[in-house]
Amino acid sequence: MPHRRFGPLECPVSVIGQGTWRLDEAPRETAAAALRAGLDAGLNHIDTAEMYGEAEPLIRDAIAGRRDEVFLVSKVLPQNASRRGTIAACERSLARLGTDRLDCYLLHWRGSIPLEETVAALETLRESGKILSWGVSNFDEADLAEALALAGPGRIACNQVLYHLEERAIEHAVLPWCETHGVALVAYSPFGSGDFPAPRTAKGQVLQKIAAAHGATPRQIALAFLTRKPSLFAIPKTSTADHARQNAAAGDLVLSDAEIAEIDAAFPRGPKPRSLPMI
Ligand code: NAP
Repeated sequence: MPHRRFGPLECPVSVIGQGTWRLDEAPRETAAAALRAGLDAGLNHIDTAEMYGEAEPLIRDAIAGRRDEVFLVSKVLPQNASRRGTIAACERSLARLGTDRLDCYLLHWRGSIPLEETVAALETLRESGKILSWGVSNFDEADLAEALALAGPGRIACNQVLYHLEERAIEHAVLPWCETHGVALVAYSPFGSGDFPAPRTAKGQVLQKIAAAHGATPRQIALAFLTRKPSLFAIPKTSTADHARQNAAAGDLVLSDAEIAEIDAAFPRGPKPRSLPMI
């Protein structure tokens, strides 16, 4: 599993990670086993959020005794992201996760609380060592510029955004902005959150053909495409140990320029939408 620099951080983060939204809908032991299988296969980047119900305690149990192997990310809800609320939310997440620090802490999406307050709280958390870095989620290029102006360079570790084969809006302006400013771009819902191209469709056939050439699966090809540039990461969610191992194996796939062009043609990115899509 290849690892990359995560924005300004020196520590290596797996290109493919593990999402945990709705992971608590699976039987607890099955879900924990999937996370451990992912860790065993090198998926050290585990993404969660205070919003994700029982996911944080589930992760605490799954990574017991292995905290140092994990690059642990959680998120504060926008309605909690005031100066004091952000710190209180982080402390609740730390308690639920059974750890004394987060590797990265994100604002889940922009709400009505001034960004200045959230950034000040995130900096306080970073200075106190409760978080090692912070980032944002669902930010467009204007939001990112505002965060950069408040925080200064080298502070925003990542922007976590909706990015999958059928939803490539971030390629217009958000990805170039992140590349210019050394911010990691983390693709959430990389399999369309359960809506992956069916094998019998024309698009599915393109993926099947490329997959066959690599002895891989179409989902592995999708992950390889979504992480084809050095600033890109992806965090698929799975509650199945075998799927976690398959997702990890995608980290080693390298697509040729011709294959990237074929995928690009089959899944065109379309015009730039007025606002950044999110789910
Ligand atoms: P996703 O990862 O796009 O898709 C998950 C679906 O793919 C599940 O049905 C899963 O089923 C299936 N799957 C995973 N690996 C597979 C494999 N190798 N073979 C076949 N099926 C596979 O969906 P997501 O949960 O929406 O997104 C991923 C993560 O991104 C979330 O869990 C969360 O951490 C993050 N996220 C962030 C935001 C945000 O606003 N920041 C929003 C949405 C999501 P099985 O469980 O059966 O494998």
